[in-house]
Amino acid sequence: MKIEAVRTHLLEHRLDTAFESASMRFDRRQHLLVEVICDDGTVGWGECLGPAGANRAVVETYAGWLIGMNPLETEKIWAVLYNALRDQGQRGLTVTALSGIDVALWDIKGRHFGVPVSVLLGGRFRESVRAYATGAFKRDGVDRVTDNAEEAARHRAAGFHAMKIKIGFGFDEDMAVIRAVRDAMGPDMRLMIDGNHGYDTVEAIRVGRAAAEYGVDWFEEPVTPEHLSAYREIRAQQPIPVAGGETWHTRWGMREPVETRAVDILQPDLCGCGGFTEMKRIADLAALHNIRVVPHVWGTAVQIAASLQFMAAMVPNPVRVNPVEPILEFDRTENPFRQAVLTAPIDHVDGVVAIPDGPGLGVEINRQALKDFAPEEA
Ligand SMILES: [Mg+2]
Repeated sequence: MKIEAVRTHLLEHRLDTAFESASMRFDRRQHLLVEVICDDGTVGWGECLGPAGANRAVVETYAGWLIGMNPLETEKIWAVLYNALRDQGQRGLTVTALSGIDVALWDIKGRHFGVPVSVLLGGRFRESVRAYATGAFKRDGVDRVTDNAEEAARHRAAGFHAMKIKIGFGFDEDMAVIRAVRDAMGPDMRLMIDGNHGYDTVEAIRVGRAAAEYGVDWFEEPVTPEHLSAYREIRAQQPIPVAGGETWHTRWGMREPVETRAVDILQPDLCGCGGFTEMKRIADLAALHNIRVVPHVWGTAVQIAASLQFMAAMVPNPVRVNPVEPILEFDRTENPFRQAVLTAPIDHVDGVVAIPDGPGLGVEINRQALKDFAPEEA
């Protein structure tokens, strides 16, 4: 079995209403899917986290090494591709592009052996996961406090047990949002706050101390991800568990945050940190240090399906009594191609998402959607 071709599919949708996190403004959604085609007709799908055009350029660069290799040899291919760009590419786009390829290879491997990727990873500990709603960005032209509170009420009505909101826009405004969202969701729903590294250390500690009384499960990316000692200080100086990891790549990128306990909750992104091959190593590293893993998910249903396969195989901690179950990040912002890329969308029922049990990622691609959402210039 040999890899015959590698194709990329850039998808784009211009938003009706632009929105912002503390670190980024979105006027469109763009994501990159990777299709790997084998000489026996088997096709696998992956996705890359981050700037789609730049990821596409790196995937196309890797294709030169990939053609002719055996797609089942995922560890070997990972090592060859990583080594090919290692000297200038130990993190960032070289790894996010490699992630999309690796996910596609595991999809192929699952289809080849007729089992879901979760079984290849060691087995399914669960058939479904609870999902938390990600949203509550700062949207253009609307009052953020009212808008986010209304959104919280909608997620509550839809059955979600938890929601993550965006902060990092300034202490007073953020506290007004946190109060309004807690009021709208009631006391039982879980609330997480994501700073998208919009604060410095002093302000993050102030926000954490003030927000704690509203019952916050975690404080995500309080400061820029390069400042690991600041993460440790924030953990020590305020009461909310600190989360991070969506911008740290590979086992080497995760090693210092884990070994020095810079976070309480590690959030590797399967389509960014190095694919299934590397995510397994990262989860094992975190488990070695008893650090909770909650995967970061921001993409199409291909990434959601891949993340679900990984989550099915995450070893519970503790194994038998009252395990802490992984929860799925479920993006609720505007993106019409997120689910359209699949022939059967992945949805939640009362905040619970079933994990596909078909071969590979367990999903099929709707090729018409790839055409419908291709940008004009692609
Ligand atoms: Mg985040």
